[in-house]
Amino acid sequence: MAKKHVRAIFPGSFDPITNGHMDVIERGIKLFDELIIAVGRSPVKNQLFTPQQRVEMIDELINERNMTGVSVESFEGLTVEYAASRKADVILRGLRSLTDVQYEFQLAMTNRAVAGIETIFIMTSEQYGFTSSTLIREIASLGGDLSNLIPSSVYERLKKHLNK
Ligand code: ADP
Repeated sequence: MAKKHVRAIFPGSFDPITNGHMDVIERGIKLFDELIIAVGRSPVKNQLFTPQQRVEMIDELINERNMTGVSVESFEGLTVEYAASRKADVILRGLRSLTDVQYEFQLAMTNRAVAGIETIFIMTSEQYGFTSSTLIREIASLGGDLSNLIPSSVYERLKKHLNK
């Protein structure tokens, strides 16, 4: 029997992408044949980078790290509708804490109820359990050191962005 080609999407804001996200992506690609990182274009307050800038930074990382089977694009609207348009088999999400579990549980059940799509979770690696884009944006605005929390190319871009 031919093996099924499994395509996953990893939706999120990625404003900006962190080492925690990269960990989920690098571990996720071992489980799937194809992984599309999907940057949500929904209007959010306190956005640091535009969706296009976020896509560019992620694309740079994919090339830098020679990640095969991984691509990035942006999307607007409902995640399940985007997943259907890309013929995705599963949604990948990451979990850091019980708070994440509570929220993600509800989201995953809703997505399965409305679209029949499964969500697969990857637990954070301990060292990234506290890393969030929200925290990164806060530390960045106060001029703190982010070198252990985000990829260096993202950090370089962030510094330029804040100096503008
Ligand atoms: P969203 O606004 O959709 O939550 P995020 O960019 O904040 O988008 O996160 C995208 C996904 O990555 C979510 O499933 C989130 O739980 C997960 N994630 C974020 N940071 C980490 C981390 N440090 N370790 C594991 N998963 C993470």
